[in-house]
Amino acid sequence: MTIPFLDLKSQYLSIKDEVINAVENICNNTAFIGGKAVDIFEESFAKYCNASHCIGVGNGTDALWLALKAINIGPGDEVIVPVNTFIASVEAISAVGAIPVFVDNDVDTYTIDIANIEKCITPKSKAIIAVHLYGQSADMDPILDIAAKHGLKVVEDAAQAHGAEYKGRRIGSIGDVACFSFYPGKNLGAYGDGGAVVTNNQEIADIVRLLSQHGSKHKYQHKIAGYNSRLDGIQAAVLNIKMKYIEQWTEARRKNASLYCQLLEGSNIIVPFERKNSRHVYHLFVVRLNNRDEVQKRLLEHGIQTAIHYPIPIHLTEAYVKLGIPKGTYPVSETYANEILSLPMYPELSKKQIHEIVYVLREIVQ
Ligand SMILES: *Cc1c(COP(=O)(O)O)cnc(C)c1O
Repeated sequence: MTIPFLDLKSQYLSIKDEVINAVENICNNTAFIGGKAVDIFEESFAKYCNASHCIGVGNGTDALWLALKAINIGPGDEVIVPVNTFIASVEAISAVGAIPVFVDNDVDTYTIDIANIEKCITPKSKAIIAVHLYGQSADMDPILDIAAKHGLKVVEDAAQAHGAEYKGRRIGSIGDVACFSFYPGKNLGAYGDGGAVVTNNQEIADIVRLLSQHGSKHKYQHKIAGYNSRLDGIQAAVLNIKMKYIEQWTEARRKNASLYCQLLEGSNIIVPFERKNSRHVYHLFVVRLNNRDEVQKRLLEHGIQTAIHYPIPIHLTEAYVKLGIPKGTYPVSETYANEILSLPMYPELSKKQIHEIVYVLREIVQ
């Protein structure tokens, strides 16, 4: 039995008729850029995030750098960001000409280590990017406190955390501005690239919207020199269908996570830590174990595909070696990079498949 790491096909088959219909509608109306489907999506996704504004953009990376632009981050500014994240969180900082300042990750939640943020603040610090990694919120209350104390903005990288909650609050409505990705493999995935900026701040929303469509609100009246980064009609139509199921799919992910945890109890495998009073949406199910590479290889021999998020902390990635940060600077992330393993996780994963994965895993690890 082969168990893929990610299975987009079975979700597609479960909504195929609706999706094909919605896409055909877009084509019939030739509403390829902008239009009703995009408006409907922006409104419903803002509501879903408990926020007042949502601007559809080209992808999650664009959402991040447009948000940084909108809060006025530019050359010479420093932006605090966790070192254990997908590179896009950091690329966005580079894209606006600012300097990334890394912080190690928390030993339990894998999100930014709160205790290490304040020592990184300098007169050049302008913002903190809180990444809700693997589907779990960063510890937002202390982040907001530190930001308020030092006059920093808070950007949420929510690319992996659609529908997640922190102490009863929906992700996307907590910081100054939040950025989402609808890359196909994300919890809410389009059938191509897509992203969104979500905020309660009218001014930020206005600037992002201007920047994302050539600096103009009305065609050919360009207030500023902007860019082109838009969510297209077909992607919005697909997302509108998927919005009907996102809660159901999220609950299925949480059920799968809880079955994994139950079956792994008493083993040497460290399962994800879930913060109290918060909702982890399990974009990924990341465990820690010894001899990770060997275990991964043996799982694959049994047809079980896994992945590593992420194998190289950003400061040691070739693109950022130029910052000259030596190995050993972020001991938690560097150690964990050799121990973490992402097991298959998606709403359609069956109980039987989870039992099979854990059975094989326990055989190997014993
Ligand atoms: C996927 C992802 C992004 C980037 O999103 P794209 O839509 O692929 O550009 C940014 N940050 C994190 C944490 C991600 O997982």
